[in-house]
Amino acid sequence: MAVSFAAVNLRTMALRSSSKLLRRSSHLLPPIHMQHSAPPLTRKISMDARSIASQLNSSGLLKTQGLIGGKWSDSYDGKTIKVYNPATGESIADVACMGGKETNDAIASAYDAYRSWSKTTAAERSKLLRKWYDLLMAHKEELAQLMTLEQGKPLKEAMGEVNYGAGFIEFSAEEAKRIYGDIIPAPMSDRRLFVLKQPVGVVGAITPWNFPLAMITRKVGPALACGCTVVIKPSELTPLTALAAAELAIQAGIPPGAVNVVMGNAPEIGDALLASPQVRKITFTGSTAVGKKLMAGSAETVKKVSLELGGNAPCIIFDDADIDIAVKGTLAAKYRNSGQTCVCANRILVQEGIYDKFAKALIDAVRNMKVGDGFGEDVVQGPLINEAAVEKVETLLQDATSKGAKVMLGGKRHSLGFTFYEPTVVGDVNSDMRISREEVFGPVAPLLRFKTEEDAIRIANDTNAGLGSYVFTNSIQRSWRVAEALEYGLVGVNEGVISTEVAPFGGFKQSGLGREGSKYGMDEYLEIKYVCLGNMKKE
Ligand code: NAP
Repeated sequence: MAVSFAAVNLRTMALRSSSKLLRRSSHLLPPIHMQHSAPPLTRKISMDARSIASQLNSSGLLKTQGLIGGKWSDSYDGKTIKVYNPATGESIADVACMGGKETNDAIASAYDAYRSWSKTTAAERSKLLRKWYDLLMAHKEELAQLMTLEQGKPLKEAMGEVNYGAGFIEFSAEEAKRIYGDIIPAPMSDRRLFVLKQPVGVVGAITPWNFPLAMITRKVGPALACGCTVVIKPSELTPLTALAAAELAIQAGIPPGAVNVVMGNAPEIGDALLASPQVRKITFTGSTAVGKKLMAGSAETVKKVSLELGGNAPCIIFDDADIDIAVKGTLAAKYRNSGQTCVCANRILVQEGIYDKFAKALIDAVRNMKVGDGFGEDVVQGPLINEAAVEKVETLLQDATSKGAKVMLGGKRHSLGFTFYEPTVVGDVNSDMRISREEVFGPVAPLLRFKTEEDAIRIANDTNAGLGSYVFTNSIQRSWRVAEALEYGLVGVNEGVISTEVAPFGGFKQSGLGREGSKYGMDEYLEIKYVCLGNMKKE
């Protein structure tokens, strides 16, 4: 399948989200650049991005086919799907657009590979995972460039994601050797009771576009470490990083069929994974709406399910907070990845005594953020993923301002055009506005005023989400009280960046089920088997 650098019509890019929906309902639609006849509004791909793409191509890491049973494969009907650079709107590559048939074959390969992979020793699995980690790190720059190219995040952030993402593979390599069972003191003298931990089986892993590498390694690392095999479905928006990581898994010696990748028609792929009795586990990161569908669909074959879904993170700044620490933490928690993370601060609750001072300090810091193509020097904020994302931000901001919120900084599309949006701070937000009830997923910081600690906790918990949360205070007692009272799976106290492979990541309420990372994340890929050995009388 050819890698193409053809410029695309930006106006058609603006219609990507609706095209995406259309593509899902029909396999016969032409490629999206052929669907509209609006006059061309093209922007040439920058030479940097072009040469990076061709370097990646010659290094063998720019893969465009799916991976089934250790073989790179086109879609069976030859259909492809375009991957775009969100900073320029230009197509980077045409990748295989797969569906149910390819997914069934990937499941069959994974099932076949499971027979032998699940019998390997922990030490063998550990060694191969470690090799994979080494290769990911050896290709850190290329992987980061690929991520910036297809996802838009600044290169430095993308490098950080490679460290973070590869960390899950390293951690899993180490943890593979620590999947212990138990011996339970038996209630009868002639019996012995054991608990074994065994792999759950074939895993279907469905991941989003905002962390093209880490969301995959966070699932695949522990799955392989436990002896499971996987069928990965990356987002159609960012499949290239996933495919490059899979290529490195092959180079590491992970056997054919243990890691499969299919992408394209999401509902068809999802349905095939759900329908198969051979798939024993679904692990999903993405929107709450899709997560609920997958949970319901797993009921028919009673699969184990882990869900990492959307958040609505409160970031609570108390009067007694250190203002510099609070601003630094809020910047990191809010604007990372242009505000497109599930743990991004979505509501910034500021106590009334510090509100004006904090707002001013935050605005001063946000004003200095450089927006641009992720390959640009000193750029800290890239574009949003697509036009639909920008429109969502605009809708939420419009709703807020129509109800009395005040734009204090930004509040509009960036002069760079396309899907760039100005880093924004909006004040006088309240809990009735959509902006504080829905995930913004963009670079907008809504400030809400509160009076007391009890108010802050009540407002923070008044949501169906429960993933990330942040508290800034100099009081140890308050930090404990508030951390305990927050109905969230993650609490950062005086810290805006808290994700690490060694700690459990996951949500309360409708933000999900299960945990990823750390020793707790391993359990998601294991069955517990109790063995009772009877008749232990002396022979
Ligand atoms: P999304 O639309 O739910 O997509 C996530 C994945 O599901 C993609 O691979 C998508 O495929 C696939 N998908 C869509 N419909 C499907 C279906 N019917 N059956 C099977 N798969 C289906 O979410 P997103 O927009 O990519 O990601 C943003 C969301 O993810 C946000 O809500 C964010 O908070 C959440 N998130 C959560 C965490 C966490 O750890 N809790 C981490 C990151 C992101 P296509 O893209 O190919 O359509």
